Amino acid sequence: MSDIYLDHNATTAPWPEVVELCGRAMRELAGNPSSVHRAGQRAKNALEHARGQVAALIDASPTEIVLTSGATEANQLAIRGAVRAAVERGMEQPAVVISAAEHPSVWGAAELAVEAHGGELVVVGLDDRGRLRLEALEAELEARAGSVALISVMAVQNEIGNAYPVREVGMMARAAGVPLHCDATQAVGRVPVDVDAWGTTLMSLSGHKFGGPKGAGALYVRRGAPLSAIWRGGHQERGRRAGTENVWGLVGLGAACDVAGRRGLEAWREAGRMGGLLAERLVEGVDGAQILGERTGALGNTVCVAFPGTRADEVLMGLDLEGVAVSAGSACSSGSLEPSPVLEAMGMDAEVAQSAVRFSTGPETTESEIARVVEIVQGVVSHMRSVHGRTGEVRWM
Ligand code: PMP
Repeated sequence: MSDIYLDHNATTAPWPEVVELCGRAMRELAGNPSSVHRAGQRAKNALEHARGQVAALIDASPTEIVLTSGATEANQLAIRGAVRAAVERGMEQPAVVISAAEHPSVWGAAELAVEAHGGELVVVGLDDRGRLRLEALEAELEARAGSVALISVMAVQNEIGNAYPVREVGMMARAAGVPLHCDATQAVGRVPVDVDAWGTTLMSLSGHKFGGPKGAGALYVRRGAPLSAIWRGGHQERGRRAGTENVWGLVGLGAACDVAGRRGLEAWREAGRMGGLLAERLVEGVDGAQILGERTGALGNTVCVAFPGTRADEVLMGLDLEGVAVSAGSACSSGSLEPSPVLEAMGMDAEVAQSAVRFSTGPETTESEIARVVEIVQGVVSHMRSVHGRTGEVRWM
């Protein structure tokens, strides 16, 4: 990894306990958990232990946990499975209501779900600070009473870091009699999450965002909630998710949940403090730096910042050359910068959005790294601006 890694929302390194346990699991758990012999049952027991650890972290019961290959799969199962279940119970042309802040895996699943059943995708907008328009959500639910199969609102936004009012949305969902799915990928293992208090019916999480392995995640399914399988095959996960489980990875996911409960949440709180420091120092130290999103009420480890007069992809490369790893707010495809849908939904000016860089701190981020990064950003941004001013184009090689 880079000398200074500030891309923890993309992924974060596994805890040492997780590395150790995954290694042991690979050596000692070779059986298939569906096999009835001893080797299989050993793997099965390890999987059930991990399920219990996941459940404990979010205050759920182990039978409410479906183990998956990560949050993308959990989001697919939640959304497509809930919509299919609603249709099987007689709902016609089901609507799915999502927020404009959602991750592409939620958008994609919701699009597939409504296409499959001739329904409608309803997107609730954001204000200029990325906050959910709760009154618009309420109005949509009222206007479509009886035909909404699912609401999906995320807990923490991956690009701008906003925390969404899941509890309030949960109350609205309950009042409307509609199940609520929450993509809590950027929240679980970093901030306290309690599925009952939040009122969610379904919730997705992913190990590699909080010190677990990649390719291991889970979907919480409230007891009794209607959900149809979306794959046909084996009968794993009580018929809800066909396919041999990633035993080694899921053992690591369980261990990461355990670490989160013991010291992880505290470490992420400190990461949030480092994010706050970074935001402050960038605004003070870099001319025109503009923080995007709403920092109050959020963990604070995400610092999405625009440096007008630069392009995010060039700043990102400049920082990488100096050993600092960050992400661009907008996706770069064939030399042009596609505006980020989230920044677009906030009504950001396209040029400002194209200059947005996402820094995300993590448990190992230090104050001296923050000071060093601010100095490096100052250099890269002023270089970009001077080169752009002179030639209108930046050449690195
Ligand atoms: N949802 C959110 C909010 C995310 O940040 C991510 C990861 N970038 C995902 C879903 C997808 O998670 P996974 O990598 O486990 O598929």
